Amino acid sequence: MHLSLVFLVNMFYKTEMMDALADYKAARYVIFGVPFDGTSSFRQGSRWAPDEMRKVSANFETYNAYFDIDFEDLLIHDAGNLEHYSSVDQTLEDLYHAVRPIARDKKLPIMLGGEHSLTYPCVKACSEEADEDIGFIVMDAHFDLREEYGGIRNNHACVSRHVLDDITDTYVTIGVRSGPKEEWDFARDSGIKHYTSDDVRDMGIKKVISEVKDYLGAKKIYLSLDMDALDPAYAPGLGTPEPFGLTDIDVRELIRAFAPISVGFDVVEIAPEYDKGISALLGTKLLREFIAAHAASEK
Ligand code: MN
Ligand code: MN
Repeated sequence: MHLSLVFLVNMFYKTEMMDALADYKAARYVIFGVPFDGTSSFRQGSRWAPDEMRKVSANFETYNAYFDIDFEDLLIHDAGNLEHYSSVDQTLEDLYHAVRPIARDKKLPIMLGGEHSLTYPCVKACSEEADEDIGFIVMDAHFDLREEYGGIRNNHACVSRHVLDDITDTYVTIGVRSGPKEEWDFARDSGIKHYTSDDVRDMGIKKVISEVKDYLGAKKIYLSLDMDALDPAYAPGLGTPEPFGLTDIDVRELIRAFAPISVGFDVVEIAPEYDKGISALLGTKLLREFIAAHAASEK
């Protein structure tokens, strides 16, 4: 299926992602939204995040001084939003077929969720198009290691389990602090590499990053930011907020460190109705930090 048949074209939008001025063919970075929150367990609303992120993106300067990167010089395309179904399985299937050509064209797909279940087809598509095996790094308050939740295999609470079972054993989760005993037992018994938000505070983010880099070796990764990794003080507009989380600076450090080795990225689980644009603003800034860090590594 050709990309333009899958994505709604931008003319339906009053707002576009700032600085996403390139056409698809020229682009290095392809941003797209998936306004789907059908399996969100506590409160829905991440369907509104992609357009809210586009809206708040107008706030930011095109120049990133830390990386000496001007977004006006980058080739970024906004493909619009994926038209989705009420069925999570069908949505994930379509998303996989939409992302695979982006990865095949050696562009870097960046998804605006939507809920976390959407990450699975993105990792799968990127993994299948990568030249070598890739790893998966996720920032999340939750393990998302359940095999199914509420009778739904592709529930947002299961995404990491399916990535581990089907795609890669090279897996790290950072910021975790919530889950039933079975998930903590499973993580420990399976030797799943995880850093709780307490670990991050005790060790310091730089030490966490250097350990993870040692663990990855030369491997590339797919990087996923479930915004509830952040403390709700920084990101209150979430589907499943969890106190005692990572700081905005922790997450920015992680993104700066891992963007250069990433072949795909997403920001998921922002539910803009529950705040006044704070979480969308931070999520969009972190997305721009990801692009700047990646682009700087290719300079
Ligand atoms: Mn999650
Ligand atoms: Mn989460």
